[in-house]
Amino acid sequence: MHKLCLLGATGSIGTSTLAVLREQPDRFQLTAVTAHRNVEQMRTICEEFQPEVAVMVDEQAARDLAEVLKGRATQVLSGAQAVADVAAASNSDTVMAAIVGGAGLVPTFAAVTAGKRVLLANKEALVMSGQLFIDAAASSGAQILPVDSEHNAIFQCLPAEVQQQLGHCDLSAAGIHKILLTGSGGPFRELPLAELAAQTPAAACAHPNWDMGQKISVDSATMMNKGLEYIEARWLFNCNEAQLDVVLHPQSVIHSMVSYKDGSVLAQMGQPDMRTPIAHCLSFPERIESGVAPLDFLSIGQLNFAAADSARYPCLELAMQACWQGQWATTTLNAANEVAVAAYLAGQIKFTGIASVCRAALEQIQQGNNAVALNSIAAILSLDEQARAIARERIKQVEAC
Ligand code: NAD
Ligand code: MG
Repeated sequence: MHKLCLLGATGSIGTSTLAVLREQPDRFQLTAVTAHRNVEQMRTICEEFQPEVAVMVDEQAARDLAEVLKGRATQVLSGAQAVADVAAASNSDTVMAAIVGGAGLVPTFAAVTAGKRVLLANKEALVMSGQLFIDAAASSGAQILPVDSEHNAIFQCLPAEVQQQLGHCDLSAAGIHKILLTGSGGPFRELPLAELAAQTPAAACAHPNWDMGQKISVDSATMMNKGLEYIEARWLFNCNEAQLDVVLHPQSVIHSMVSYKDGSVLAQMGQPDMRTPIAHCLSFPERIESGVAPLDFLSIGQLNFAAADSARYPCLELAMQACWQGQWATTTLNAANEVAVAAYLAGQIKFTGIASVCRAALEQIQQGNNAVALNSIAAILSLDEQARAIARERIKQVEAC
C-alpha cells in the first residue's frame, strides 16, 4: 500500500488524483494533503479521505479548517514551510507534486531531496531549477515519474533502461532519433492574428480539449505551456537541441511520440483526461483502472499535424531559445510569465502583452547579471524574485500608456 502526500489537493490535478484514488481504495492511503486557501474543498477532502495531516498555506484558512474539522483525526498545519515539511515527512513514500507555478519549487524539491517517489505535475519546479533538480534526485535516489501528459506519453514509449535513468539517460545509445512533443495549439489556433490581442481570459481558458487550472489554460493559449514542457523534456530525457521537436496536433489524441533510428515512431494515445497519466504514475510499473474510457477511433476519424507558427506563438519561441541559453533564462522566463499571466487574468494587460513582458524580463536580466551561478535553491529564488519585479515594473509601464 503506497502512502501518498498530495501537494495541491484542491486543484485540477489534485481533483483528478483523488478521482483515481477513489477507484483504488485498497492500493493507496492518502496521508497528507496541502492547498492554498480553499477551506470548503479541503474540508470535503479531509472528511472523505481522513489524511493524517492537512496544510493550508494561508493562516486564516488553516484556522478555519481546524475549526470545521474539530474532533477529527486530521492535524491541521499552516504556512509554506509546513507544505515543504509534509512533502519530506516520513508518513509518505510517494508525493504528487501538483501545486501550480513557482510556489511548488521548494516543496517539490524537498520531496526530491528526501528521496521520495515524486509524481511530477508541477513542471515549473523543474523549469526553474533544471540541473539542480536532476542532481538532487540522483543523489537522494528519488524516482521521478512524469505526470504531464506529454512527458508521461514519452516515458511510456521509452525502453525500460531509459525509464530507469531519467535525467541521465543517453537517448542516442538507446536507438532514439528524437522526441516529438505534441500540442493542440490551444483555443486561438485558427484566429486571425490581428484578433489575438483582444482575447479575454474567459476565451483563453476555454481550451478545446482539456479542462485545467487557469494558469496552465492561459499558458496553453500562448503555447508557453508547450515551451515550459520543451524545457521540462530537455531535463527529464537529457535531450540536446536536435533531439527535441514540437508538432501541432489539434485533436490531442496522440500525447507525444518517440522516433527511433530504424524509422519506428512510438506514440501513446488516449483521451485528453489527466486521470490516465496520473493512474500510470501512481501504479507504475503496473496498470490500474483510472475511470477513463478507451479511445473510439471510429468517432475520432482523423488525426492532423502541423508546424507551430512563431508569429502566433512567440512565447513558445522564447521558451525554446531560453532552454538552450541557460538556467538564468528559463528561471527568468518562468517567473516573468507567471506575473504576466496573473496580470492578464486580472485584466491589466492584453493577451499579446504576456510575450512582451517575458521578452522584456529576459532582455533586462541578460544585460544585468547573467554571470551569477545558480547553484542553490536560494540563488534560483533570488533570480526568480528579480525577474518578477522586472515583470511587475513592465506591467505598470504598459498600464500607464
Ligand atoms: P490549479 O490552479 O487547478 O491548482 C493548483 C493547486 O496549487 C491548488 O490546490 C492550490 O491550492 C495550490 N496552490 C496555489 N498557490 C499555492 C501556493 N502559493 N502555495 C501552495 N499551494 C498553492 O492548477 P492545476 O491545473 O492543477 O496545475 C497544477 C500543476 O500541474 C501545474 O504546474 C500545471 O502546469 C501542471 N499540470 C496540470 C495539468 C492539468 O490538466 N491541469 C496538466 C499537466 C500539468
Ligand atoms: Mg502537458
